[in-house]
Amino acid sequence: MRFDSSIRLYDRAGKLIPGGVSSPVRAFSPHPFYTSKADGPFLWDADGNRFIDYCLAYGPMILVHRHPAIMQAVTDQMQRGWLYGTPSELEVQMAERVSGLYPSMEMLRFVSSGSEATMAALRVARGATGRNMIIKIEGGFHGAHDSVLIKAGSGATTLGIPDSLGVPADTARNTLQVPYNDLDALQKMLKSYPGKIACLIMEPVLGNIGPVLPEEGYLKAVRELTTEHDVLLIFDEVITGFRLALGGAQQYYGIKPDLTTLGKIIGGGLPIGVFGGRRDLISQVAPAGGIYQAGTFNGSPLSLAAGMATLDVMEKEKTLERLSDAGKEMRKGLQEIIEDLKQSYSVVGIASMFKVFFGPEPHNYSEALKCDKLGYLAFFRRMLEKGIFLTPSQYETDFISAAHSKEVIEATLEAFRSCLKD
Ligand SMILES: *Cc1c(COP(=O)(O)O)cnc(C)c1O
Repeated sequence: MRFDSSIRLYDRAGKLIPGGVSSPVRAFSPHPFYTSKADGPFLWDADGNRFIDYCLAYGPMILVHRHPAIMQAVTDQMQRGWLYGTPSELEVQMAERVSGLYPSMEMLRFVSSGSEATMAALRVARGATGRNMIIKIEGGFHGAHDSVLIKAGSGATTLGIPDSLGVPADTARNTLQVPYNDLDALQKMLKSYPGKIACLIMEPVLGNIGPVLPEEGYLKAVRELTTEHDVLLIFDEVITGFRLALGGAQQYYGIKPDLTTLGKIIGGGLPIGVFGGRRDLISQVAPAGGIYQAGTFNGSPLSLAAGMATLDVMEKEKTLERLSDAGKEMRKGLQEIIEDLKQSYSVVGIASMFKVFFGPEPHNYSEALKCDKLGYLAFFRRMLEKGIFLTPSQYETDFISAAHSKEVIEATLEAFRSCLKD
């Protein structure tokens, strides 16, 4: 496989764009490929190489690249204009639809990205409770803003240590961390700061280091503990929403959070985020109340049109049922390969998510970190040379779209076997 054009682009990009990429995860060694077009389950790079796409833009592209119904919906909306700066019927329709699928979201607002959604949800939690501290789960990702860009330092699980330069220590101090799947740690934390913690924000399934799955009863107990300690529970369903079920992980596991954030799939591949939850909380958002949130592109007609069309297709074609079968097939195939070749590795996933961990199945962040991530990178590179684009990190979930046919999955499994053997 030749990458001459991508290498030239990488060279030019690196002079102007940090790391040559617009978002860090897109960079990988020795150079990323620069995509020129996408169609079906495939990406083509600037050199004309074709890749089966399991990254799917890190989640949004659940149907297929260039789905005709979405193109049509966006084109129709373009005909009517694409940005108004006024309210429109589309956002009323979509709000009704989302609230119908997510009964916990009694009120909601559309923003432009998942990061904005979590930023706003945290502000609502803080504004409504008058408390500053939040708890997040170690290894949970909620976008790249100050309050959540913090992981626990080794041993220092109580007070946050910034994950990035430029995050004020005073901000980090308000972000507490607990390990996933650890109810004792959560209970201890809740008891340690009575009356000081606004909320717990969590991905119900950790999608940004894995996936890492909740143990039996964990989420239910988290709901009970947070209620008992009068701490709001935010489910960040930017990945799990419209994926585990149309009603997200909260429908799948039968849990009712106080606040929810959505993104990715609900924009049909265009930028979007949603935050919502209990009426008594979200009704405090401006202009109805004193918790401020605003955005030029909030409720973007194009994103909402694309999202509506996506939901129409998913409902009509029962996409999630089919994807759940495809996910099972993929994981079963991978499991067989691993049992033959690498018994110390593990296959983890749920619905349309999967990952091969180069180590035993992790149940939390620190276990995930023990995997052979360099080994994974070498493997990733080999798969790429065979025309298969997995996510370029041990800690990003691979996704299956409705465009991944039996033949595509079989070809992928064959490549897995041969690359793992090497
Ligand atoms: C991707 C993601 C975000 C951030 O969404 P953006 O649209 O990239 O800002 C937040 N939370 C979770 C769980 C995500 O996976």
